[in-house]
Amino acid sequence: MTCPFCQHPSTRVVDSRVTGPQGGGIRRRRECPECERRFSTLERIEQRMPQVVKKDGRRETFDVNKVLQGLQVALRKRPVSSVWVQSAVQRIEQCVFSEADKGEISTHRVGEFVLSELLSVDRVAFLRFASVYQEFNSAEEFMELIQPLLTLDSEE
Ligand SMILES: [Zn+2]
Repeated sequence: MTCPFCQHPSTRVVDSRVTGPQGGGIRRRRECPECERRFSTLERIEQRMPQVVKKDGRRETFDVNKVLQGLQVALRKRPVSSVWVQSAVQRIEQCVFSEADKGEISTHRVGEFVLSELLSVDRVAFLRFASVYQEFNSAEEFMELIQPLLTLDSEE
């Protein structure tokens, strides 16, 4: 980085620390070897949004608002608080970011994250989401999905 005082083309980092919300930035203290003056820079970490790959191969940038909308539709008139919805959205977003291999994740996988959240909070909403958003290749695939529900029932 060029020195802002003497325009010397390279400066030395003397200190770095993570800063900002969720550690989204790095503050660096730099020193110029030429004029020996110090200055600070604030660098933002650019977080690349994963691409969501649809069944037909088309891609679109992951949009957390769609996750929120999907949850809200599934939970319409269900006794689930908006606080839960917000925290579920954050957990799903974290799952997507941590699993998006090479920046990509399938819509099916995103749907599974949503379903596992819904399963933990409201079965009606879980089934609504499953029937509307998740495409099933076969009856077996659907049965596999609702298996956790059947297990819950038998435990009661
Ligand atoms: Zn300088």
